Amino acid sequence: MDLAIIAIILAIAATAAYSAWKQLLYSVFASIACVFAFIVMALVIESEDPYFDYELAFAPMDLYTADRVYTVLTSMFAHGGLFHLLFNVLGLIFIGMLFEQRIGTRPFMLLYFLCGLAGTLAFAIVHWGEVAYVLGASGAISGILGGFARMFPNERMSMFVMFFPLPPLPIWVIVVIFVFLQILLIPGYSGIAWEAHLGGLAAGILLTPVVVKVPLHKRVKRMVSLSALRKLATTQELKTILRRIEDEEVPDVRSAWIEHYLIRARCPYCGSRLKVTSEAVVCEKGHLI
Ligand SMILES: [Zn+2]
Repeated sequence: MDLAIIAIILAIAATAAYSAWKQLLYSVFASIACVFAFIVMALVIESEDPYFDYELAFAPMDLYTADRVYTVLTSMFAHGGLFHLLFNVLGLIFIGMLFEQRIGTRPFMLLYFLCGLAGTLAFAIVHWGEVAYVLGASGAISGILGGFARMFPNERMSMFVMFFPLPPLPIWVIVVIFVFLQILLIPGYSGIAWEAHLGGLAAGILLTPVVVKVPLHKRVKRMVSLSALRKLATTQELKTILRRIEDEEVPDVRSAWIEHYLIRARCPYCGSRLKVTSEAVVCEKGHLI
């Protein structure tokens, strides 16, 4: 394994560790890791196809080739050209960030890696025994899209087709269009890994309800922001309690009022009860408040 690959693996690990530790947006840190991998490979590769590097890409046989198993990880952060990179970074920023703010950085990161892995495995199953390569963050991002649709199906999102904006559509509709486009790609060779996209998407839809229930949030009970609380003040009773919270200056009393408030409030996304534990405030379905 050469130095460039070691540097890329370290960058992937360092960005993930820092983001998980500080609970800072992994959508941004994953993008940084992708850009870093792209720059490193552009600097060191001397092939005719300058950006597509087989050393980072995953092939099914890598699963049983000990000195290439690292491609399971690197292929999720490597891209086959500037456009490919740009497209995925935009996906991470526009879809990933929005979703991550709703479910929290650590569950988002866990989901991201699981979906990327699922995309890679789906590709391996379809191409078992063949010489075929896959690379790119699209499998993981497809999973994020699936998770978003599972948690917030009716949330509307704008899409761009060849830089033309479409009217905002509910996310579940976007997923249906996405699946339809992937099915169109199945016959023939497009160079687009529909296997990884569909594998990642399916994993996102199936795993998100489980992942958001894993207690990964840091202890924030006393730090629930006033702006988050204000979103929940839907009834007269809640508005009255909110005023007491805002006026209270004794921290312990204020905490007690916040607890009282959260027991009565409902999730603004799905209307279910909120869980007030020593972890973050999350609704029964996993929406982060
Ligand atoms: Zn909810």
